[in-house]
Amino acid sequence: MLHAGASQVRTRFEHQSSARTSELITAEGDHLAHNYHPLPVIARRAKAQWVWDVEGTKYLDCLAAYSALNFGHQHPALVRALKRQLRTLSLTSRAVHNDQLGPFAEGLTRLVSQDMVLPMNTGAEAVETAIKIARAWGYRQKGVASNQATIIVADNNFHGRTLGIVSFSSDSEAKDDFGPYLPGFRSVPYGDQAALEAAIDDTTVAVLVEPIQGEAGIVIPPESYLPAVRDITSRHNVLLIADEIQSGLGRTGATLQVDNVGVHPDMVIMGKALGGGLLPVSAVAGRGDVMGVIAPGQHGSTFGGNPLAAAVGKAVVELLETGTMQANSRKLGAVMAERLGRMTDLGVVGVRQEGLWAGVDIDPELATGREVAEALVGRGVLTKDTHGSTLRFAPPLIVKESDVHFAMDQLEASLGDIRRFRTK
Ligand code: PLP
Repeated sequence: MLHAGASQVRTRFEHQSSARTSELITAEGDHLAHNYHPLPVIARRAKAQWVWDVEGTKYLDCLAAYSALNFGHQHPALVRALKRQLRTLSLTSRAVHNDQLGPFAEGLTRLVSQDMVLPMNTGAEAVETAIKIARAWGYRQKGVASNQATIIVADNNFHGRTLGIVSFSSDSEAKDDFGPYLPGFRSVPYGDQAALEAAIDDTTVAVLVEPIQGEAGIVIPPESYLPAVRDITSRHNVLLIADEIQSGLGRTGATLQVDNVGVHPDMVIMGKALGGGLLPVSAVAGRGDVMGVIAPGQHGSTFGGNPLAAAVGKAVVELLETGTMQANSRKLGAVMAERLGRMTDLGVVGVRQEGLWAGVDIDPELATGREVAEALVGRGVLTKDTHGSTLRFAPPLIVKESDVHFAMDQLEASLGDIRRFRTK
């Protein structure tokens, strides 16, 4: 059942009436570390683009687990691959070979036109992996003096939550009180290739960049930026590492966002949707001579490249090879853009979008992103705010045109509800 005709702004728990819901929220509050501030929805099951809560209320998923669910919940081909593998072989560790990993690595390298893959589990682990490879390449191939390697990153980056990664974050919430920090990073303004080139010296081994900054609010650099960064890094013998964990695997209408701007990085980092929403699967794919610097014993993971992950990852590659996810993202992204473009009178003051991935700035005088996200919950749509007054829309790439219109209708209605509520 969808929330029918909600005519006022929903406060946090207003639409959740049952004792069961309150009990579950209280249990989380009492026994879970408070490192998240979830929307007041207790999901119980999901299929494709739909999520049902414990009360049976149905929501259109417009967040897709921050793009980990690019292919929707329980995609049949992915569930089939997982079940088949589960019955056969689930874990070996890399102490022995398994018959799934080679085909996965072969398919993934083909998909992203790289030579070699190093599989891990979460996104942050894959970012750490790329940093280690870049440093080792710097010392062993480029001849950088021992322990002096620097990596250039962008202001307002988000690459994960490990200590190494928060060391070069510019977000005080993510960083403060977790020091001492890992040295060896220089941060420059995102989108400014001159600042990036000026920061390069003899110690620089790599530039690590998100092709679109997702957590910062879907910040899209000028179209010439990544090609310029590619040119600069090639001229200075510096590796270009693209973190495509959130932007990649169909989200922006291409297999990778770098494909949209005609750039080929030396290493590309993937995660989230690589596990098809079923398992944590991440990987670094890169140039053979770069990936080749890592020898046995120098890096690894008990679970990285396990047969279950490899079977699902291979099925994800097969889905993406057909191009239908990317095409739907482009086609319905245009529908979403057209609708969002007509919402300026309703309180939308900015939209940044690529494919089915939109950062929508709400007039801060009207509401915070959180308030709009909560109002949308009351209208059967799941989205998430980021950075104050920005909302992000990232539905699974399998949505239909009618779903996009439904989400946009509910956004318009929510903004109207809020305006009426405010002017009361
Ligand atoms: N890199 C980017 C660009 C991300 O968006 C994220 C997560 O949001 C990560 C890395 C970290 O991934 P994980 O949460 O799987 O560690």
